[in-house]
Amino acid sequence: MVINRRNSITDKSEGLGKGILVIGGGISGITTALEAAEVGYRVVLIEQGPYLGGKVSMMNQYFPKLCPPWCGLEINFRRIRQNPRIQILTSTTVTKISGSEGNFNVTLEMKPEYVNHQCTACGDCVEVCPVERENDFNLGLDKSRAIFLPHEMAFPHKYVIDENVCLKDECGKCLEVCKYDAINFEQSPEVIELKSGSIVFATGWELFDVSQIQELKFGVFPDIITNLMMERMASPNGPNKGKIVRPSNGEAPKNIVFVQCAGSRDESYLPYCSGVCCSVSLKQALYLTEKDPEANVKIFYIDLRLMGRHEDFLNRIMDNPRIELIKGKVGKIMEEKETGNMICEAEDILSGIKISAVADLVILAAGMVPNISPLEQISTDESGFVSSEKLEPGIYAAGCNKNPQEVSASLKDATGIALKAIQSAK
Ligand SMILES: Cc1cc2nc3c(=O)[nH]c(=O)nc-3n(C[C@H](O)[C@H](O)[C@H](O)COP(=O)(O)OP(=O)(O)OC[C@H]3O[C@@H](n4cnc5c(N)ncnc54)[C@H](O)[C@@H]3O)c2cc1C
Repeated sequence: MVINRRNSITDKSEGLGKGILVIGGGISGITTALEAAEVGYRVVLIEQGPYLGGKVSMMNQYFPKLCPPWCGLEINFRRIRQNPRIQILTSTTVTKISGSEGNFNVTLEMKPEYVNHQCTACGDCVEVCPVERENDFNLGLDKSRAIFLPHEMAFPHKYVIDENVCLKDECGKCLEVCKYDAINFEQSPEVIELKSGSIVFATGWELFDVSQIQELKFGVFPDIITNLMMERMASPNGPNKGKIVRPSNGEAPKNIVFVQCAGSRDESYLPYCSGVCCSVSLKQALYLTEKDPEANVKIFYIDLRLMGRHEDFLNRIMDNPRIELIKGKVGKIMEEKETGNMICEAEDILSGIKISAVADLVILAAGMVPNISPLEQISTDESGFVSSEKLEPGIYAAGCNKNPQEVSASLKDATGIALKAIQSAK
């Protein structure tokens, strides 16, 4: 594996030859890259951010087995480290593709990270950095310094600098303390060209912006969070080291409401089902009740859509007297002025009774929207996901940019796509 960004494409004129370019370093892109490299193909895997792993690295635990994400990711990172045929380029995007199957020309743009691979992640730089920024890995739930390790398991395991806030030479404190000559403010954006036999887009998903649904008051009341924020809060490497608290006052929540289909299955927002949100909320209800014996959970749903092994998961929830499942859609959330609690209004469809559930924490089960590369080669369907049938020969999509799916389905898809990419690269 080569991850020395500046010299990573060792022979630029040769480029990848008949190799494969994979765009997106989440679990789908990593899988396609590894499957192709392990049968002998050269692969360049590019990632727009400073580390690999995508959204899976943000999870506390992932179903069906509820293991920490590092179980799966660490094995893959080891496979990457051991494979000389994979080259990793972080903070890199594609700006242009031309040519055709078996012979694409690709232009890549690499953003400066200002820290090279001599970094040992010792952390001396953080001690002296005077600038704070919102920590995007923890979705703004805490802060980091302008020079930061994206998270403790980050791969590549090195610090990066947020160029939007860093004072660079005006400050220079990190440069002074770095014993490894790892920081260089002279780095500038770089454009490189390479050839590739086939291209796989594995650009994944983003969370639907729930602030668009005005009645649900996300961004208005501080104790209304998204399901992805909940993953970060529950995680041992999250903002409170795994302690789940109300953002408004730092206290442990006791009455928690989940609002299912926050955006999904709604013609005004996302007309499709995001597929994973029901299982995600059941998983998160377990986090809450297992971490705090006084926590009670209500889950408001339209339908519970759980496939295969997730049915067992539901049975586990049904046996838990502190988790209540209510068939009804929350239409409105208001604030109880005296307590700062929220009142969630819904109609219980089965009894026909109108319910006002009081909550000190509300979790919006926000849907998944595809992350689409703005290149002309990408065509989408009516819901905005990549449409595989419309892609030109030699270009493929893998994972959640094609449809919302869980990790195991993404892995199967990405493995199948590796086989297709190999055939085009021959
Ligand atoms: C709240 C929540 C909890 C979940 N929990 C579970 C769970 O417990 N179990 C489970 O099986 N599934 C779970 N999922 C689903 C899981 O997150 C997805 O299956 C998984 O992330 C799919 O991986 P991916 O690689 O396709 O996409 P992503 O994880 O989104 O990775 C895509 C990568 O591509 C990069 N990228 C995007 N655009 C570009 C570009 N133009 N150039 C270069 N790089 C780019 C991104 O930065 C990212 O690193 C959950 C989903 C949600 C919403």
